[in-house]
Amino acid sequence: MFEKLSDRLGGVFDRLRGRGALNEQDVREAMREVRVALLEADVALPVVRDFVEKVTEKSVGQSVLKSVTPGQQVVKIVNDQLTEMLGSEASELNIAVAPPAVIMMVGLQGSGKTTTTAKIAKLLKGKQNKKVLMASLDVNRPAAQEQLATLGKQVEVTTLPIIEGQQPVEIAKRALQAAKLQSFDVVMLDTAGRLHVDQQLMDEMRAVAKVSTPHEVLLVVDSLTGQDAVNVAKNFGEQVDLTGIVLTRMDGDARGGAALSMRAVTGKPIKFAGVGEKLDQIEPFHPERVAGRILG
Ligand code: GDP
Repeated sequence: MFEKLSDRLGGVFDRLRGRGALNEQDVREAMREVRVALLEADVALPVVRDFVEKVTEKSVGQSVLKSVTPGQQVVKIVNDQLTEMLGSEASELNIAVAPPAVIMMVGLQGSGKTTTTAKIAKLLKGKQNKKVLMASLDVNRPAAQEQLATLGKQVEVTTLPIIEGQQPVEIAKRALQAAKLQSFDVVMLDTAGRLHVDQQLMDEMRAVAKVSTPHEVLLVVDSLTGQDAVNVAKNFGEQVDLTGIVLTRMDGDARGGAALSMRAVTGKPIKFAGVGEKLDQIEPFHPERVAGRILG
């Protein structure tokens, strides 16, 4: 996803490293190129401004410019700043609570929410040996509940039996009750998506959050939708207390800006990246690794 950005930045930094001495002018010129590269990758403008300003400030200090390898040092500053922009540390799911831990999945239809629910359930079951119950609260889209049941079979995770006509809040209550009675460690609530952010979706989501008091509210967004993904995250964040973001389709060839802006614009940590359609194609999001990948 970051190939083009990586190429552009690689060129700038090769030139910086290639020079023995650097002056302030050299740094400012390089940062102008970095700015253009980030904007072309579709990173939000305020995020780019802040990034360039911080890197410039740290780089033009005398200790950097007077050092033996100034180019190297500037690249290190860029790397650190990029990592900070992406959230510094990998954030774990907050499920070390008295069971059942409740994870509520929210997002627009088509973002990859249901697939991601099954992927995370599979991860928790396999890696952390958790007993997971999944429940679909999507009563709007025909066959949404069956879709989760089918995925549940594939990842060998239990899904809550479907009761026709039951409404989302009632389904959430039933899921929690079943989890308590049957000693599940984690309950995953896959809430309904809509094509656009609308008030009905938000009201329903808040009602579900109220009855289930989730430990995690994960917003699933499609990284291919660029700045729209960032706006969606902002909208959801204003309506419900998001605890993290999952970026799907990171295997696609979007320019990557959404991924890079997301943390800075929303203030929410990116917890996972979806990297394919298969149910094991999900990775915990490690900012320093992603920064490393971008800078080669
Ligand atoms: P929902 O409407 O948000 O629940 O979306 P779905 O979970 O049904 O996913 C929609 C489509 O996106 C499906 O075909 C998924 O296989 C696909 N999908 C989900 N996550 C990813 C991902 O990370 N990469 C790719 N390439 N496809 C994905």
